[in-house]
Amino acid sequence: MDTPTRTWPQQWFDWRDGIDCPKCAQGRPDEDDWGSRYYEGEHADGYLQKEAMSRGYSVVVFRGRHVADLVDLTDEELAGYWYDVRAVGRLVYEVFAPCHLNYQALGNFLPHLHTHVIPRYPDDPKPGRPLPETLWDSAPVVPAAEHARQLAGLRAAAGR
Ligand SMILES: [Zn+2]
Repeated sequence: MDTPTRTWPQQWFDWRDGIDCPKCAQGRPDEDDWGSRYYEGEHADGYLQKEAMSRGYSVVVFRGRHVADLVDLTDEELAGYWYDVRAVGRLVYEVFAPCHLNYQALGNFLPHLHTHVIPRYPDDPKPGRPLPETLWDSAPVVPAAEHARQLAGLRAAAGR
């Protein structure tokens, strides 16, 4: 039997195994290429994204050590991580008033544990379904002044 051709890049396997993982290398910055931090928890940080398919789109990043998948967390880390994800979700509800949140732990590009927090609104284009991949791929850049205004609101809500 022929060996199936692998479609996932070697870099993904390296990052999964903690080799040169960009999330580990960045420490716990206030800014990264994708977002601005407004929440600092014991186990995770929350970032408002600069390109957003939905108003208030945030990412929560597990901190402290390299973990690629939820199954690699200790019980204490698991509880602490979801505590922090919930805290970010509450801030997004408070500041943006969506009707629902989607939580997606994907890691298909960067396998260091993180969760996408995607606000859903009563007038969004896919009621009853996830937002389509095309919206992710073409997410508009939030104008800098608007990003700063939203960030200030989230930081104020977080008590930062
Ligand atoms: Zn990592």
